Amino acid sequence: MHQSSVPITPPRPLSSTARAARAASVGIAALVVGGSLGASPAAAQSAPAATAVTAAAPAAAAVHTVSAAAVSAAAATDVVAKRGSVGAVVAEIDRALRASEIRNFGRARSTGVLANTYGPLTTSRVRAFQARNGLRATGAVDERTYAMLRPTFKLKPGTQTVARSVRGRPITVRVVGDLGAKKRVIVVGCIHGNECAGLPILDAVARRGAPRGVAYVLVARPNPDGAAAGTRHNARKVDLNRNFVGWTPKGKPGYVYYPGRGALSEPESLALYDLVRSVKPTAYVTYHQALRCVDYAGAGAQVARTYARLSGLPVKVLPAYHGSNGTWLGTRHPDVKTLTVELSRPVPASMISRNVTALRHLATHH
Ligand SMILES: [Zn+2]
Repeated sequence: MHQSSVPITPPRPLSSTARAARAASVGIAALVVGGSLGASPAAAQSAPAATAVTAAAPAAAAVHTVSAAAVSAAAATDVVAKRGSVGAVVAEIDRALRASEIRNFGRARSTGVLANTYGPLTTSRVRAFQARNGLRATGAVDERTYAMLRPTFKLKPGTQTVARSVRGRPITVRVVGDLGAKKRVIVVGCIHGNECAGLPILDAVARRGAPRGVAYVLVARPNPDGAAAGTRHNARKVDLNRNFVGWTPKGKPGYVYYPGRGALSEPESLALYDLVRSVKPTAYVTYHQALRCVDYAGAGAQVARTYARLSGLPVKVLPAYHGSNGTWLGTRHPDVKTLTVELSRPVPASMISRNVTALRHLATHH
């Protein structure tokens, strides 16, 4: 599922206005949390897991707030993985380094370290790769180095498997329309496996087809193990929506917002990360339950207002959680119109149809 040519696309720079805009919205979010939502992180973390899961909702959502300064600091670096990183992203980097070394020297350097851990040897191999390719030899994998190491997905219309979950289930992507379209909208149905109300919305937009000039890239179940088990987490008890770039450590496996052992440590979040590199979306919509609101990141403010009006859900700026889809895209891809849509539980049919209308409108007019 990978193309053979290696794309060399420098990461998009983060404009200072976008950073300032995001910092401002984070400030508002922090104010809201400090005021009405209030649950202290310590209280939420010490609560029994069952309670926390049931509450996976307004009060509990107050955990993981990020200061504007912290978000700006995260935005200033574009490191994907570095010494100390673990998990799926390191495994993929190791695989790519081996391929590059075999191409160049006929054999790969043995890692001699624990699998999937970015240690001193990985650092020196990355440094050598960077030197061979005219990159700054830092030994840390920034976005440009990653783009040269890892090919993007070669997607075509229809359904394809792009990656596998921890348990080996396929992570499939459905492309509706032509990816050469100016407007490319990634829609994520169910990243939290117990919040799958968005799936009929994806089905409905796929059935009707893409409007002219639009391509949909639908990822119904990026967390197939969680969806099969009906759990928020993936099979390693990681909250994937805290596992993206901008990750910070918090709690232990099973904790409701457990972010994993490092950024992109999980194959499911790495698949979404690679999908964004591959598609270069102009808009990104991810469905959750059950906060009943439309949250936005990056350039999404205007489309969030329209989406809210058409769907009947209010705009609400949720806290900028470390390592969430929204925070990652808002800081690293501020020109993407990113929406987090929180549906209700249960979801009336009328809400589904209004969201289908809102999504089609967004796809056409963003
Ligand atoms: Zn959720």
